[in-house]
Amino acid sequence: MTASINPLAKRRTKIVCTLGPATNTPEKIRALIMAGMDLVRINCSHGEPEDRIELTRLVREAAKELKIEIPIMFDLQGPKIRIGRLEENISLKKGDRLIISSGDAIGRAGHVTTTYPYFARDVAVGEKVLIDDGRLCLNVDSLEENEVHTTVEVGGLLKPRKGINLPNTTISAPCLTEKDLADLKLAVDLQVDFAAVSFVRNAQDMTVVRKAADELGEHHLQFISKIERPEALKDLLGIIRNSDGVMVARGDLGVEVGSPRVPMIQKEIITRSNMGGKFVITATQMLDSMIDAPVPTRAEASDVANAILDGTDACMLSGETAAGSYPIRTVKTMVQIAQETESHPVYRYQSPTLPRGSIHHIPDGISAAAHETANLMGAQLLVAFTNSGNSALKLSKRHPASLLVGATIHEHIARRMRVYWGVIPLLIRKPSSVEEMFEEVKQRIMDLELVRKGDVAILTSGFPLWTSGSTNLMRVMEIE
Ligand code: ATP
Ligand code: MG
Ligand code: MG
Repeated sequence: MTASINPLAKRRTKIVCTLGPATNTPEKIRALIMAGMDLVRINCSHGEPEDRIELTRLVREAAKELKIEIPIMFDLQGPKIRIGRLEENISLKKGDRLIISSGDAIGRAGHVTTTYPYFARDVAVGEKVLIDDGRLCLNVDSLEENEVHTTVEVGGLLKPRKGINLPNTTISAPCLTEKDLADLKLAVDLQVDFAAVSFVRNAQDMTVVRKAADELGEHHLQFISKIERPEALKDLLGIIRNSDGVMVARGDLGVEVGSPRVPMIQKEIITRSNMGGKFVITATQMLDSMIDAPVPTRAEASDVANAILDGTDACMLSGETAAGSYPIRTVKTMVQIAQETESHPVYRYQSPTLPRGSIHHIPDGISAAAHETANLMGAQLLVAFTNSGNSALKLSKRHPASLLVGATIHEHIARRMRVYWGVIPLLIRKPSSVEEMFEEVKQRIMDLELVRKGDVAILTSGFPLWTSGSTNLMRVMEIE
């Protein structure tokens, strides 16, 4: 069976790569795609709008050249407090003094700035200031008007634009800032695929962002909630319901709730997202040491494997691909870990047996039937012919052992589906009848060597064609 499978299709877990100075050339982006990048993350916290426009252009050119649909996500900064620009990196040692003041002056040893205007008002003497996902820790000694005087408790190298967390302080800023609105407008204008919303507090926050995007113009944007605040955990189900996708944003989450709580929160978010039928991305420090080293630590390899075992759709790389020394190698390493994990006999998804009468929606009935039939017949391939991507997502959430193709006539839906666990997007010509669609799909999956003679393929679609949410048909075919 394996000989007939397209090698690219063998991996089910998807890979998200953040672009940055290490990967902002056409050659690097092509290399990332060939290595296995499935979704591009452009972090709006760094660089200027022109950089985002340029990166978007480069990704689209590379994808076109390689004849593959690659989606783009804009990650909106949200109300994150950051260190400003610096003359150069500053080495901080325990006991050093450092002043942080609000403003946009360029920082230097002893005195740095933050663009957050209320910094001195929000912190209190004796509180901790954490920098760079908590790697550096300062203690607040005194406050003088606009200046916060601190002593270094845990030192390290301070780099420009690093995030600041104040774990004891409630920041009242809304999750969509002026800057985010401008980046959201850019996302709409450029017609990118996803917007990730940082520091979501509750379900309502997601509605606000969606409405804001709708007011900016026509778009096919989907919205990913980043779970990184303690408040968000209290409204997790509501947030998932109002999101198209979810991100376990372990960077700020770990700083806000403490690292010891992160592993189980990750499992909870992934399980709840899967139950809610939404895709989920696990992010931050997955192969962090590969920023500087050609191999990962054992703990990192285990972390990637465990996220896959938890049921994540995708694993994300941040600094590793944005600013690391081995971006392509890191993606290849992640691919290897995913393949090893997925092919091990311990990796098997236990599909729940549901009681009689527990499915009420016809498309859900079809997806259950297709999955069950594929399983019982040992079918090589499942194909969801889909207008919105939803029926491919439903099948993906069942983690079928058969290969899974999402066939569509819409380019933006093909891009969107690439993020879903196991889904191989297939862009097809618009058919005029169901028979023609079956024929076209059959030809394409044979051309791609996803099936060969004697294989069983199972297709689902809507009848009549072209109505979203109408999947009501299942066809079992033997490839002759
Ligand atoms: P976030 O909280 O949104 O994750 P971050 O600062 O942690 O923000 P990441 O995207 O996680 O940023 O990337 C990790 C590091 O990679 C950054 O701190 C930065 O040093 C570097 N980086 C990422 N994107 C860029 C970029 N476009 N330009 C420069 N450096 C970047
Ligand atoms: Mg963030
Ligand atoms: Mg980060």
